[in-house]
Amino acid sequence: MLQDRTACPIQGPYTPPMVQLDSAPEPTPLAVTHDAYLAARAHAEPADLALDRYESFHRAGLDPDGLVPAPTRIETTTSDEGPVRKFLLPVPPRPGARRDVGPLEVESVIIPMRSRHETTHTLCVSSQVGCAMGCTFCETAQMGLVRPLHPAEIVAQWWAARHHLGQFIRNIVFMGMGEPLDQVETTIEAIRILTDHHGPAIPMKRITVSTVGRLDGMAHLREQFLKPGWRKLNLAISINAPNDEIRSQLMPVNRSMPMDDLIAMLETWPFRKNGKFCCEYVLIPGVNDADAHADELAHRLRNIPCCVNVIPYNPRRDSPWPAPHEDDVWRFLSRLEANGQFCKRRRTKGRDTMAACGQLGAAHIRNRRVIPRVASLTSSALTSRTANQS
Ligand code: SF4
Repeated sequence: MLQDRTACPIQGPYTPPMVQLDSAPEPTPLAVTHDAYLAARAHAEPADLALDRYESFHRAGLDPDGLVPAPTRIETTTSDEGPVRKFLLPVPPRPGARRDVGPLEVESVIIPMRSRHETTHTLCVSSQVGCAMGCTFCETAQMGLVRPLHPAEIVAQWWAARHHLGQFIRNIVFMGMGEPLDQVETTIEAIRILTDHHGPAIPMKRITVSTVGRLDGMAHLREQFLKPGWRKLNLAISINAPNDEIRSQLMPVNRSMPMDDLIAMLETWPFRKNGKFCCEYVLIPGVNDADAHADELAHRLRNIPCCVNVIPYNPRRDSPWPAPHEDDVWRFLSRLEANGQFCKRRRTKGRDTMAACGQLGAAHIRNRRVIPRVASLTSSALTSRTANQS
C-alpha cells in the first residue's frame, strides 16, 4: 500500500553518535534543533523564513522534501482504553549494519492511556533496529543488534505518528527496540529535537528513557541531568529480578554491571524534588514471581525513590514461559505493598499483534542464536512458586 520498502528519504551521511551539523547535504528539520537549522540555513535565506520552514515541518506536517516515509505497515489491536497501533517505518542500511537481514524497519507503538477525565496517547519509540543486550524474555533480543538509529530516525517516529497517522502524542517513552543508553549522545540529541519549542515541543517531563542499567550510559546521562531543563526527564530502569543470580540469567548486562553498582548509581541520582524512578519488573511465571522475590526486591529498593511497575510477561515468539495468571500478578503486587513498596501494575495492551512490552522485533531478521533457557532457575523458582501457592 505504501512505498518502496528500500527507499528512505531521511537523507544525510550517518556519523554516529552525533548529527554533523556542517556536513553536506545540509541538516533537515528532522535532524537538528531549530537553532542549528537556522545556523545551517543562514547562507541561503533570512532567519525568519528558515524558522517558518522548521515550524511548518514539525507543527503543520509540511514535508515537501518527503523526509519521513509513510509507515509500511500499521497493525491495530483493541484494548479497554482504545486502539493500540503498531507501525513500521523503513530505514536504510547504514555503514556497519548487518547486510544479511533484508529491508530494515523500525517499530513504534501508539498506546492509548485513559484516565478519569480523558484519553491521551503515548508513543513508544525505538532507538535501534534490534538490540545487543540479549535479555532472555525479549523478542527484540533475538534479532541481535542490526544497527543504531540516527536522531532523525527517532524523531521521524514521532513525526509519522503525529502527521501520517494524525495522532496527537502526549508522552514519549524510549521503550521500543534497543537500549537507548547504548548511544547515549544519539538519545540526548533526539530528546533535544523532540523538546524544541519551535519543533515537536514535547515537554521534558513527558519523556521517559528506559534502560537496562548501562552504568556508563547512566553516568553520561547524569551529567546531562545537571543542565537546565533536564532534571524533568523521567528515567525507567529494567530491574526484573530481586538478586544477581536471577538477574544475570534474565539480563546478561548484569554480569558486568551487577545490582549493587546499579543501586549505588540510583541512590545518588540527582533527582528533582519529589522525583522518582520507575523500576520495571517483568513478572515471569516460575522465575521471579515468588513472595520471597517480592520481599527481597522491596528490601533492595528501600533507599531508592521509586515506583515498581510490574509488567505481566508478554511471551516472545518461541517463549519458554507463558504469561502469568492474573492471581499471581495481584499476589506479587500485594506482597510488594505489604513491604511498603509503592508499586503499580502495567496494563497489558497490544499482545495480539506483538506490540506489547518486550514483543517488538522482525521475525525475518531473528538472529538464530539460541537464547538460553534458564532451566535450572526455572525449576528452582517453580519450587518456590509451588510453595507460595500451597
Ligand atoms: S528488553 Fe530492551 S534492552 Fe533488553 S533486549 Fe529487549 S530491547 Fe534490548
